[in-house]
Parts: sequence; structure tokens; C-alpha cells
Amino acid sequence: MMNQINDTGVLSSQLSKVSNKYKSYTINNFRKIPQIADNFSDEELFEMEVVATVLPFKSNNYVVNELINWDKPRKDPIFNLTFPNRSMLKGHHFDMLAERMKFGADKAEIESIARKIRMELNPHPAGQSKLNLPRINGNVVEGMQHKYDHTALFFPKQGQTCHAYCTFCFRWPQFVSTDELKFATKDIENSIAYFRANPQITDILFTGGDPMVMSPRHFAQYIDALIDAKLPNLQNIRIGSKSLAYWPQTFLEEDGDIILGAFKRAISEGKHIAFMAHFNHHVELTTPAVQEAIQKINATGARIRTQSPVFKNINDDPKVWSAMWKEQVRQGCIPYYMFVARDTGAQHYFAVTLERAWKIFREAYQNVSGLARTVRGPSMSCTPGKVQILGVVEVAGEKVFALRFLQGRNKNWIHRPFFAKYNPDAIWIDDLEPAFGEEKFFFEEELEFKYKSIFRHEDIDDYIGVNYSQN
Ligand code: SF4
Repeated sequence: MMNQINDTGVLSSQLSKVSNKYKSYTINNFRKIPQIADNFSDEELFEMEVVATVLPFKSNNYVVNELINWDKPRKDPIFNLTFPNRSMLKGHHFDMLAERMKFGADKAEIESIARKIRMELNPHPAGQSKLNLPRINGNVVEGMQHKYDHTALFFPKQGQTCHAYCTFCFRWPQFVSTDELKFATKDIENSIAYFRANPQITDILFTGGDPMVMSPRHFAQYIDALIDAKLPNLQNIRIGSKSLAYWPQTFLEEDGDIILGAFKRAISEGKHIAFMAHFNHHVELTTPAVQEAIQKINATGARIRTQSPVFKNINDDPKVWSAMWKEQVRQGCIPYYMFVARDTGAQHYFAVTLERAWKIFREAYQNVSGLARTVRGPSMSCTPGKVQILGVVEVAGEKVFALRFLQGRNKNWIHRPFFAKYNPDAIWIDDLEPAFGEEKFFFEEELEFKYKSIFRHEDIDDYIGVNYSQN
């Protein structure tokens, strides 16, 4: 039976099947999960609730029953991926909220404290909320971001949630009820107009949340609108999604054919469909459901490229990465990116040092065949661009990090090596200083100029200087 589109268009294909299949677990019902009741004390459950009051929390029956190993849940990577624990909030944040919750503060006060904490967690890293806003005739195009020359991000209104929430997510403001923190649009016409006005853009990236939570019919309408627009510059339609890991049934049931059909139509019109799949661990590639879903997407002619950040408590082990990349290649996927934990949300809990990230990447890369070496990283998505850590080396007697841009706000920055003083504790670009006695990195003055032209004099102190990723 075909699914109905609900009022909001959100999750309609999946929610319509909730009664017999999809079931989400949130702060309101997670205590009813038998495996949770069996493994955690009341105090631990309360701690989860405190964290989930600040950071969004959602898991589902597929994740709980198919992916998590409940023998040792606290050590299980997929458990840590979707369930909160108290260490995900900094101690003073946790204590501030826990105390008020224990003493029965009312809902408004709890939400006010949670909101205050959220605002201290850098909700829009890398200048998303101001630096990346596209404009036509001076007017902001809602629901889009445009940071790099060739690629524009599109946030469909119906795709601003996910089948489950990752505890590390840098898009977490999309899921909390703070409307001014969100990007979203249901109007692709404005985006099409922006494409026409910017012939250098070749790629559109559907993102969210997860665009694959939307009704397949909505998704197909967006794709058809892009095809009908006959944009000569549009070559690649990318879909950033974790649905293969969190709800591969999206592609297996009757409605899945609507999505796959949209892929086929775009491909027959000469567009490339790049499905940017988010996998954090090889466990996510092991179920019959995900393997069948991958086969179905590949059969349309779309290509699946894979990406993930490297995180403590989830995948900070080169063996996990080499196993994941090998399995992805075996199933016909293309390893694409290893990222570094972004400077937002629970970064203190997940971040590995830049040196450690590089070592994990290097050892994993050494242990896969050339077919998996399409992957790039480790990379920081920060305000100036995507900065890759090439390694730690000694140059002219000084120990340094060798770095380069994989993407840059100015394309002339790309693939130009540069160096930072070695800092064994660095977890993000903010922790790095130029090597060899230089005062600034080579791109810094131009970046400051860009900031000034965008912000004029407002907020300027918050945005310039070495703290590139402050927003
Ligand atoms: S699937 Fe993506 S957008 Fe959704 S919670 Fe995970 S990282 Fe965030």
C-alpha cells in the first residue's frame, strides 16, 4: 500500500509504517526498551535524560535490534553513536541542569537552561549561519548555503530530521526546537534561480538532517523540478544521508522504488547521482538490509561515496577504518572522506588529537588496496575550508604539522601546502599556530578581509583572528 504524505511531509514514508515497522526511541520512551531496562541503573537513566534535554536524542528499532551489541553497551560503538551518556556534557553544564531537574524545576526553566547550554556549544560551526548565506539581488536565499565555488547546499524543509540522531552531530540545531538556529526551505524554485544566476555551480547537495527521511514523493518532486529546470550548469546531484546505516528499509519497500526511480530519471537526463553515505563503523555494513539497499542504489547507476568523522568511543582504531573501507569497496561503494570531530556539541567527548587522527588514517590507509585509497583525510571542515592533516614532519629542525586545503573559500588556496607548529594536544585548527616564526597563515589576511566585507563592523571581534571556526 502506498504511504500517505502527512501535514509536514516529514518522515511520512517511514512514519506511516511505524505501527508495523519503524519505531523511534526518544527521551519519552527509551526506558521501555528491554535492553535499556536490563543494563542501566535509575541514576544512569536520569543522566541520559539530562544530556538528552540539551542534545537531541533519537534511536530506532533497527539500530537497537540489529546494530547494537548489548553484551557491553557502554563499550559498543553504535550504542555510543545514538545514546547519550553524562560525559557528553561538560561537568559544569551537566551539574547545572541535573540539579534543577532533580529539584523539580518547571519545564520553562529547564528549557531555558538547556538553551543557554546549547548556545555555548557553538551551534553553527565554521560560519554556517552568516558566512555561507547565498543571496540574489541582496536577498538571502532561504534554506541554502554556499561555501565553495562549485557546490551549493540545499536544505529541504521535509528533510530536517533523521531516522536516528548521532550523538556527535554538528547539525544538531536542526533537531532542537530553536527555530532561529535552523536552515530549511520547501521552495526549490529560489534555489533554481540561484543556480541560474551562478553558472560556476555544478553540484547541488541535498542535506539536512537527512533528506531521505522525507516522503519519497516529495523527494522525487524535488529531483523532477531540477530536471525540468534544465539547468545547463547542474551536473551532479548529491544526497547526504545516513539512511543506509539507520534505516536501509527506505530503499527496500514499495516507496523505495519511487526514490530509485527518481535517481534513474536524473541519470537518464545526463545528471550524476552521488549518494554521500554516512557510515561510522563497519558494523553498519553487515546486515542483509543494508547490503540489499546498497545493491539497489548501485543498480540505478548512482554511485555511493562514503564518509565519516573519526571519534573517540566509536571508531578511533585503524582496524575499524580499514575493515570499513574494505567492506565498502567490496559492496561497490567509494570511500571518500575521513573527517575530524567538529568544534560543536560534544566535541570534548569525541575529539581525538590531530596527530592521532592522522596516525589512524595512515595506518588504515596502509592496510587497504588501492581501490579504497580514494579516501581523503583526516580533514577539518572549518571556516576557511576543508583542511587536511598531511602529517607530522621535521622541517629545518622544527617539528611541524604539514597541512593543505582540500576545499577553500578561495579555490586558489586548494592543494597549497602550509605548516603549523607541532602541538601534540591540538584537536582543531584553533589550536594551531603558523610554523617558522610566521605571524599568520597564508590565507589569514584574505579571510579577515572576507569577514570584514560580510560583517562590516558588527560582531567582527568574534570572527577574525586565529579562531577561524568560532562560528
Ligand atoms: S544522520 Fe547526519 S544529520 Fe542526522 S544526526 Fe547523524 S550526523 Fe546529524
